[in-house]
Amino acid sequence: MKQLQKTEIDEFKSHFRGDLLLPNDASYEEVRQIWNAMIDRRPALIARCASSEDVVQAVKFARKHNLIVSIRGGGHNIAGNAVCDDGLMIDLSLMKRVKVDQKARRAIVEPGCTLADFDAAAQIHGLATRWASTRVQEWPA
Ligand SMILES: Cc1cc2nc3c(=O)[nH]c(=O)nc-3n(C[C@H](O)[C@H](O)[C@H](O)COP(=O)(O)OP(=O)(O)OC[C@H]3O[C@@H](n4cnc5c(N)ncnc54)[C@H](O)[C@@H]3O)c2cc1C
Repeated sequence: MKQLQKTEIDEFKSHFRGDLLLPNDASYEEVRQIWNAMIDRRPALIARCASSEDVVQAVKFARKHNLIVSIRGGGHNIAGNAVCDDGLMIDLSLMKRVKVDQKARRAIVEPGCTLADFDAAAQIHGLATRWASTRVQEWPA
């Protein structure tokens, strides 16, 4: 893998609202863990996104530097595809907003939510979850 230069990381940081973690950073070891503790992969860089704009910036960075990408949502996939070795892990686990439209019985959910996060938000409105359909869209303004 191409060695990333400090100036390249700093340039990325200037467009990124979330956290960028390198292997030497204090929380790197914890953040690269997923539910399946047998998975032991070490990304070159972890981009902890705070917004969809951060995701755009992360994808642009990976494309520019020809990096392997993995995407972490809740991190519960047993095969561990959320984490890659030597590439960019785009970590969406901090993006947990849930917007419930009680009347329409519809919710818009950010990609870091686990079912527990989603259920907690739905239950405030007296709703229980039954899988129906999902659609990818922008977070509403
Ligand atoms: C204890 C346990 C119980 C489970 N129970 C059930 C169950 O009852 N029913 C069921 O259907 N499944 C169940 N699963 C499986 C689980 O729902 C799936 O593995 C699901 O993919 C986990 O989602 P995640 O966001 O946590 O996954 P992650 O591990 O974060 O990601 C899974 C895959 O999707 C990709 N990905 C994640 N988010 C995005 C995104 N926003 N855009 C593009 N790609 C993305 C990742 O790169 C990875 O390849 C269970 C798993 C566990 C560990």
